[in-house]
Amino acid sequence: MIIDFRSDTVTKPTPAMLQAMMGATVGDDVFSEDPSINELERMSADMFGMESGLFCPSGTMTNQIAIKCHTQPGDEVICDESSHVYQYEGGGIAFNSSASVKLLYGDRGRINATQVKAAINADDNHKANTSLVCLENTSNRGGGSCYDFNEIKKIKEVCIENHLALHLDGARLWNAMIAKNEPAKQYGETFDSISICLSKGLGCPVGSVLIGKKNFIKKARRIRKVFGGGMRQAGFLAAAGIYALKNNIERLKQDHDNAKRIGEVIAKTSMAKSVFPVETNIIIFETVASVTAAEIVEKLKQKNILCYAIAPDRVRLVVHLDITEEMVNKTIEIIKAL
Ligand SMILES: *Cc1c(COP(=O)(O)O)cnc(C)c1O
Repeated sequence: MIIDFRSDTVTKPTPAMLQAMMGATVGDDVFSEDPSINELERMSADMFGMESGLFCPSGTMTNQIAIKCHTQPGDEVICDESSHVYQYEGGGIAFNSSASVKLLYGDRGRINATQVKAAINADDNHKANTSLVCLENTSNRGGGSCYDFNEIKKIKEVCIENHLALHLDGARLWNAMIAKNEPAKQYGETFDSISICLSKGLGCPVGSVLIGKKNFIKKARRIRKVFGGGMRQAGFLAAAGIYALKNNIERLKQDHDNAKRIGEVIAKTSMAKSVFPVETNIIIFETVASVTAAEIVEKLKQKNILCYAIAPDRVRLVVHLDITEEMVNKTIEIIKAL
């Protein structure tokens, strides 16, 4: 038995999800004629109280489309140094939007309103025009850390005062909402655009949805075509998303509980210098000086446990839908004996 903690993207569709996919009614989505995609976009937007949605092949695409829509070439985007839009999207902010980036050093991936305010460029010919703030909730490199919504509200106020758009990379937004028992609507009210991923904790094989105001999504639909993301009978994929929204959100709590259990055991081992607080489904720990993250990953691999070195001294494990109770028990046993 291989226990795969490398990412929550490794899940495979369950028989019930596959059945929903096979039974989907489809059409040509470039003509907006795919009923399943239309329903998924509607459901996603409604859940957050936003006007419209746009189904895309990946979270990278939904983020990059949003950044393109919110900026002009030469503008500047404010985000945390560890954020996915900066670290893991192939330099897409520069490539796709010809925008520069102002990096902030937040607390486990979370930036605050004071930092944002200080990072806005003056209205001065020498300076890039600051036009967008991107937040990430939960923060991936922050170890699944969740924002305090009061801080988000303060950041929003700074954005309003300074005419900046506010985008949320919500690849794992449902994890944050479940962990903090938050209503979805407050996110829809606060952000100009939100990217949500179906292919992470929700267990879909493919897909992300960008949600926002009607005019924003109209513009985003055009950019999606330019980026080559206009798909045809992709309703088979959207059907997985609809299934996941109905069935796989509440169960995220199990992943969080399992992650906590594993995190507690790791904290007691001699290989761990410290473990980030386990707030959701991600466990990140720092290794002691005598051993590298790569060595620990290799050692666990020999015991059929897969995880990932995200830095020379940092290991990440991600709990997800395909990690069973039995696997968690087995993992705990192995880590204790390591
Ligand atoms: C996974 C992820 C994305 C999107 O990734 P894709 O693989 O392109 O779907 C975006 N943001 C964060 C924080 C992620 O973890």
